[in-house]
Amino acid sequence: MLSAVRLISEAADLAARRHNGMARKGRGSEPYINHLAEVASLLATATGGADAELVAAGWLHDTIEDTDTTHEELAQKFSQRVASLVVECTDDMSLPKAERRRRQVLDAPRKSAAAKLIKIADKISNISARIHSDPTTEERDDLADYVGWAEQVVAVCRGGNPWLDQAFDDAVQRARASL
Ligand code: ZN
Repeated sequence: MLSAVRLISEAADLAARRHNGMARKGRGSEPYINHLAEVASLLATATGGADAELVAAGWLHDTIEDTDTTHEELAQKFSQRVASLVVECTDDMSLPKAERRRRQVLDAPRKSAAAKLIKIADKISNISARIHSDPTTEERDDLADYVGWAEQVVAVCRGGNPWLDQAFDDAVQRARASL
């Protein structure tokens, strides 16, 4: 097993390479890696830095869904737990968006406690990126729609980490205030 520092550094390195050139959805089309850094940082803060595999999985949580990375590769490079956490956070991209969203709500109760934390951190990051100071009608609709769905997912995932739950509630409040 890699040391905590290597685990997280190598996870960040692989995530940066695999998502290279991708832009995140939302404000200013930031590089995708900004989203992963934000999720990993939220998880590190929420858990007081106690769980290196969780933070590594935060860096990697979109690699299987959005790049050609596999479960086997992550298990071999990092650990079985890191790979399993990423799989738990992976949507079936062959399904239409509405069905993927529906499944996230339905499947959330069966997720591990750590995967639920990643889901909440992911939603906090995605909501924050969609808050615009002067939104267009389309941006406003997109944010309202995203927040409504994120609240359904997080309602099932919350309860494991009060700090993260509060950070989510704060993000929702900021989002609603911007609408
Ligand atoms: Zn994500």
